[in-house]
Amino acid sequence: MYDYVIVGAGSAGCVLAARLSEDPETSVLLLEAGPPDTNQNIHIPLGYLSLARTEVDWCYSSAPEPGCGGRRITLPRGKVLGGSSSINAMVYIRGNRRDYDDWGAPGWAWDDLFPYFLKAEDNERGASEWHAVGGPLPVSDQRSGNKITPAFVEAGVEAGLARNEDFNGDAQDGVGMYQLTQRGGMRASASVAYLHPAMERPNLTVMPYMRVDRVLFEGARAVGVEASRLGEPQELRAEREVILCGGAYNSPQLLMLSGVGPAEHLAMREVEVVLDQPAVGENLSDHPATFGVWTTPEPESLLLALEPAAMAEFEASQTGPFASNLAESGGFARVGAGVEAPDVQFHVAPIQIVEEGMGDPEGHGVWVSPCLLTPESRGSVRLASSDPSAHPIVRNAFYDSEADMARMVDAMRLTQEICAQPSFKAYCADPYTVPDSDSDDAVRSHIARTTFEVYHPVGTCAIGSVVDSELRVQGAEALRVVDASVMPTVPRGNTNAPTIAIAERAADLIRHGRALATAEVAAQA
Ligand SMILES: Cc1cc2nc3c(=O)[nH]c(=O)nc-3n(C[C@H](O)[C@H](O)[C@H](O)COP(=O)(O)OP(=O)(O)OC[C@H]3O[C@@H](n4cnc5c(N)ncnc54)[C@H](O)[C@@H]3O)c2cc1C
Repeated sequence: MYDYVIVGAGSAGCVLAARLSEDPETSVLLLEAGPPDTNQNIHIPLGYLSLARTEVDWCYSSAPEPGCGGRRITLPRGKVLGGSSSINAMVYIRGNRRDYDDWGAPGWAWDDLFPYFLKAEDNERGASEWHAVGGPLPVSDQRSGNKITPAFVEAGVEAGLARNEDFNGDAQDGVGMYQLTQRGGMRASASVAYLHPAMERPNLTVMPYMRVDRVLFEGARAVGVEASRLGEPQELRAEREVILCGGAYNSPQLLMLSGVGPAEHLAMREVEVVLDQPAVGENLSDHPATFGVWTTPEPESLLLALEPAAMAEFEASQTGPFASNLAESGGFARVGAGVEAPDVQFHVAPIQIVEEGMGDPEGHGVWVSPCLLTPESRGSVRLASSDPSAHPIVRNAFYDSEADMARMVDAMRLTQEICAQPSFKAYCADPYTVPDSDSDDAVRSHIARTTFEVYHPVGTCAIGSVVDSELRVQGAEALRVVDASVMPTVPRGNTNAPTIAIAERAADLIRHGRALATAEVAAQA
């Protein structure tokens, strides 16, 4: 019997386990389906390229996407201590004030969350109006030293975009180098930042290789979970609460496996209904992205990692190609008429990315990818079966809304315009994957052929429809969801830092039974 049973040791689960176990009187059990994070390719930044479709990835794919020529889109998700923060691209972005204010969820506006971004942060640039030091999450500047990604920034400026030295400062628009969740050139996953330092606490139990199959209910009250470790079923009981932190695909899947979801769908899958909750698994949103790839005559891409000198450099100083997070530079722009905040984000990698990273580059090259920040289309997560080992059915429904496709066409054209600027055109000398021509049809078909998701799924257990403003599952007792799935819409930017800030605030809600004032949060930090 534990006070809290937390399901999933990802970005949110690690924060909650660490924060709740700060109180020695509180016992916390953290259950993770995947292994411990001992694989060195998790910690050496560029190593994550080799982790896709391995035992630390859930290896999901979407259902055929009608807006993308019926292709199934790869959906990487971390299955390891640290969850997706152990396999992500480490870009540190908080999003735009508007994202949170537009949620209209009491307690989750920008002014409510900003103190928690600061509480989490340890920025190597030091403390300022916008940044903090001393928090668990290291935020650092790039150390790869690659020349291609800064050249994109110059080209963006030549194309008329602002230069931005800090996307998490007073303005989000513009182009620049991303700050990263790294310390000393090594990945700082939520596990490294929050869990490792708490691991020795006697009141925190962490069980890897433990897949939770079902939440156990007594009436409407969650009293524990049924889980399996290496095929051995077991029951683990929670005195106070069960907290789901399985991420935007697995948390709704687990709710539905437990009988909480749309009654008709559950009946179809022969799951006994505990609570008819039609919104569970609905409202999936993510950033659809397309890309252009060019071969470059300059021998400067991350292929240099294949030279023995690259590993020697990394071992000596944690710099060079192995310190790269891949998506080193990029930025935010507006393509929609009259939009009040950026609607496109760029990620630029100094390498040819082929077959979603599973293929071998043919030579030195560059990959430039625009994604839509405010898509209108909404997808869903559904059960394929009542068997907990079955993958959920994920429909992104990208470009269901014609407005999304129209905006993506503009985003791709802006990308090509930047790539043709003097500072960058040498790197884009030889097109490898680009639209066949500038016609609308050619750009649309390129987008349908190349669209992938930028790994930012949210919305499937949204605040206001599945959970209340304290993240409690509506209609149930002693059951919360705390992860990216509670965001009602996807923020303008990458979702790791927002998920961590949400978990930081949730930890306070749970520990104190109330929201804390900004001054109280600052005093804790
Ligand atoms: C390839 C990739 C690149 C990305 N790049 C960036 C980036 O550069 N910057 C950024 O900000 N964001 C990035 N993201 C997104 C970011 O990492 C996620 O938004 C964030 O980690 C989500 O946190 P979470 O806690 O919701 O879920 P996760 O971190 O995915 O954690 C969920 C955890 O729950 C576990 N789990 C699930 N179901 C069960 C179960 N039934 N039983 C037990 N355990 C279970 C999982 O194994 C996992 O460990 C990226 C994501 C990916 C996959």
